[in-house]
Amino acid sequence: MRILVTGGAGFIGSHLCERLLKYGHDVICLDNFFTGSKDNIIHLMDSHRFELIRHDIIEPILLEVDQIYNLACPASPVHYQYNPVKTTKTSVMGTINMLGLAKRVRARILQASTSEVYGDPKVHPQKEDYWGNVNCIGPRSCYDEGKRVAETLMMDYFRQNKVDIRIVRIFNTYGPRMALNDGRVVSNFMVQALKGDDITVYGNGKQTRSFCYVSDLVEGMIKMMNQDDFIGPVNMGNPQEYTILDFAEKIKKLAKSKSKIIFKPLPQDDPLQRCPDISLAKEKLGWKPVVDVDKGLKLTMDDFKKRVR
Ligand code: NAD
Ligand code: UDP
Repeated sequence: MRILVTGGAGFIGSHLCERLLKYGHDVICLDNFFTGSKDNIIHLMDSHRFELIRHDIIEPILLEVDQIYNLACPASPVHYQYNPVKTTKTSVMGTINMLGLAKRVRARILQASTSEVYGDPKVHPQKEDYWGNVNCIGPRSCYDEGKRVAETLMMDYFRQNKVDIRIVRIFNTYGPRMALNDGRVVSNFMVQALKGDDITVYGNGKQTRSFCYVSDLVEGMIKMMNQDDFIGPVNMGNPQEYTILDFAEKIKKLAKSKSKIIFKPLPQDDPLQRCPDISLAKEKLGWKPVVDVDKGLKLTMDDFKKRVR
């Protein structure tokens, strides 16, 4: 198949491009390089089945493809809040453009949605039928509400135009190639621990997150795309839940670091707890993560060690 991956030069996108090439597909990677980088995909450039296009999805584009994975959107709070209007535009206008393309060339399209559609959840763990608790006027809204509208658009193109859609709600995912300056918790803690800098825990560190290794997520996304019975939305993540403070200690130990753990103010609207209920993915796709957090963190740390100086 010929497959378009928007945001393909980013962290998850680059792993997805790599896996799709391994499965024998032709891959078009489209990216505006806001948070992505050529370093992430340089090793794929030699393949004659790989093409790279510098393009911003808020502008329309016409490409003959069979499948579209729509990942283009900054994912780290630091980056999506840098230009919040652009973030909303990317999720709304960008998703309209990709849905328009899917409709025109009759491609199947999968939207990379997020656990952030649940906001600061009042239901724990989160199941797909929970409608969420999102502040529509806060600093995270450009991302959360953008992704919520993207899901709405996907469903309406499905109902109104019969576009063949899939929606995956991704929970915190980590792994090699996360940008060193990404600003999310795994990369921050690893860089700080390896440099011997203070490890910055926001708030009291009692908030929780659940961390999925990138190869598990990518396998799940490909499974979701290539089955015919179920459009989603479906949660994908690793249900092992950690407090951020325990997580900081875990990374410090893994790096054999002498860093001090310090506390900084909790960002506004930072969700208190987050853990996916993945029964639907298990039932419909036979998918569950197989890389446990200790192994995944070690693989990630090995990659960070090569890049942090
Ligand atoms: P990332 O920032 O590394 O990747 C995003 C990519 O999209 C980058 O390459 C960036 O340059 C590109 N991009 C951004 N805006 C664009 C635009 N307007 N046009 C074209 N390209 C654009 O982030 P990631 O962690 O790889 O996330 C990928 C996707 O998965 C995002 O849609 C994100 O919302 C979603 N997601 C990720 C996580 C996670 O934990 N990593 C969790 C939930 C959802
Ligand atoms: N966090 C932290 N220190 C950091 C970066 C993040 O304590 O240096 C916390 C953050 O406040 C949040 C959790 O770690 O509670 C996960 O943050 P991240 O930005 O990775 O993702 P998200 O909040 O979108 O889940």
